[in-house]
Amino acid sequence: MRLYDTRRREILELELGPLVTMYSCGITPYDAAHLGHAAVYLTYDVLQRRLRDLGHETRCVRNVTDVDDDILRKARELGVHYLDLAAQEISRFDRDMLGLGILPVHAEPRATSAIPEILSLIGRALDAGVAYEAGGAIYFRVARFADFGALSHLGRDEMLVLAKENGGNPDDPHKLDPLDFVLWQPSLADEPAWESRWGPGRPGWHIECSALALRELGETIDVHGGGRDLIFPHHECEAAQSESVTGRPFVRYWVHVGLVGLNGAKMSKSLGNLVFVSELLERAPAAAVRLALLGHHYRGDWTWTDADLDDGRRRAAAYADSAGTRDGTALLDDVRVALDDDLDAPAALRAIDAAPRGTDRGPALALLGVNL
Ligand SMILES: [Zn+2]
Repeated sequence: MRLYDTRRREILELELGPLVTMYSCGITPYDAAHLGHAAVYLTYDVLQRRLRDLGHETRCVRNVTDVDDDILRKARELGVHYLDLAAQEISRFDRDMLGLGILPVHAEPRATSAIPEILSLIGRALDAGVAYEAGGAIYFRVARFADFGALSHLGRDEMLVLAKENGGNPDDPHKLDPLDFVLWQPSLADEPAWESRWGPGRPGWHIECSALALRELGETIDVHGGGRDLIFPHHECEAAQSESVTGRPFVRYWVHVGLVGLNGAKMSKSLGNLVFVSELLERAPAAAVRLALLGHHYRGDWTWTDADLDDGRRRAAAYADSAGTRDGTALLDDVRVALDDDLDAPAALRAIDAAPRGTDRGPALALLGVNL
């Protein structure tokens, strides 16, 4: 199987053992899951299905960022406890993923479950001389990590823009370098705080995923990713702090999923141009929603329109229509070939479309997780 690796910027033949470890960055549970989330988790779902089909065992972990700036801000706005907000949104998310037929993950650990691991990782970063304390916070010193930028391939100016957009606070006067990022920070009066050697506080965003990935899957993960917007700063920072502490490669293959837009802009909470998974599942059967998403290659950015849902519905109806009595082995092989070529689901669907009348499509659809 061949897959595009963000870091090496090429399609590579995967070299995997019997057990494949995967980590896809999960949600911050403060709002409902939208199509951008669905596209990411569906990609990791289909990848797992094909790897299992090839005989691998897969262990996919998807974290829950249940403490960070966003969820604390939203809880403050709503006047609720942040963990009550998290509980409500996690159950909505689980229902959406179940509705879409996404394979259950091996573990769905919460950031708040990893405070001891986070503190230990920060201690190791300080010991290794890649972190420093200033103004009651602990920062990662990017200048001490020679490979900083090797994943995102961004220049310093581009990094600064993205860091600012993603809560990186480059103007923080305590930082030695505006690109340095927070590992631990003092909590505000109404924020949760955990005891630490550096005073009560809470973790930075990136260290949460490093701590959970190392705890759940070990020092080197086979496949790690999420939406393309996580490449920088989130994944660049995860890799820097993890590799600085362990001395080992953090990730073997970085797999990122393109962004889904609506009305000419990236779907995002700040723009309010979201299509929610639950909304689509009310409008169409799950198989049609899955087929609508699979009609786009995972790696490209694309824009959602209602025509996508029509395509999904049309395919679901066509596939369900003619019960297959002809052997479907050749079709299944075509779908496997398409998926092995950088997970080309649109090509897999075209193969199913083109199958002669009466072909048994069941095994091919099952490999794509489409349950008519
Ligand atoms: Zn993450």
